[in-house]
Amino acid sequence: MSQAKRLYELQAVDHEIEVKENALRGVEAGLGQRDALERVQALIQAQQQALDDLKRRLHHQEWELEDLTTKIAALEERLYSGRITNPKELSSLQHEVELLKAQRSRTEDRALELMAAVDKAKEGLAARHQELDRAEKQWQAEQAQLRSQQAQLREALAALRQSRHSLGQQVDSAHLTLYETLKAKKQGQAVARVEQGMCRGCRISLPTHLLQEARQRVAQCTSCHRILYLD
Ligand SMILES: [Zn+2]
Repeated sequence: MSQAKRLYELQAVDHEIEVKENALRGVEAGLGQRDALERVQALIQAQQQALDDLKRRLHHQEWELEDLTTKIAALEERLYSGRITNPKELSSLQHEVELLKAQRSRTEDRALELMAAVDKAKEGLAARHQELDRAEKQWQAEQAQLRSQQAQLREALAALRQSRHSLGQQVDSAHLTLYETLKAKKQGQAVARVEQGMCRGCRISLPTHLLQEARQRVAQCTSCHRILYLD
């Protein structure tokens, strides 16, 4: 195998290593990433707080109802006790009872509204808990998949690095240095295949003597300086 062919293969392995390393970085960034779950948990917390608030307001209305009922009962007891005979006082008492009853009716309406709101909030919260359960299951499945991908990529990378190592040993150190230098300058493309007399790196037609030279030893394109590889 010619040095240029080995370098060309080395480049393919290097490219594959880069691709797999990028994929591994992506996989590892996703491992332990709980953003999606935390968003649902934050919603649950907010909905729970809203529900607690509604319950507090409902209790407040219920206490007020009790209080009003007690007051009304006491006033009615006086009203119908026969102890009060003054018509003006009776009428004033009657009026006070009516006002309190109207107030109780409004409080009852508010309590009913709050009960409905509490029920609705409970339903919403239960649905959100179900959503969290689903998201948690999905997350577990995704994490398992990511761990499996991570293991596969690590294994593949170990094999590629082994190939890289043995290919590197089969190349002269001066050529390897040239390859590394060009690779850094040419975005990883240090070796260019020659097709129909043309350098695939820069698409320039190469002179015949250079093509002959490239068949025999490591030669560089006169235009882009990449190492030329002919089949
Ligand atoms: Zn070229």
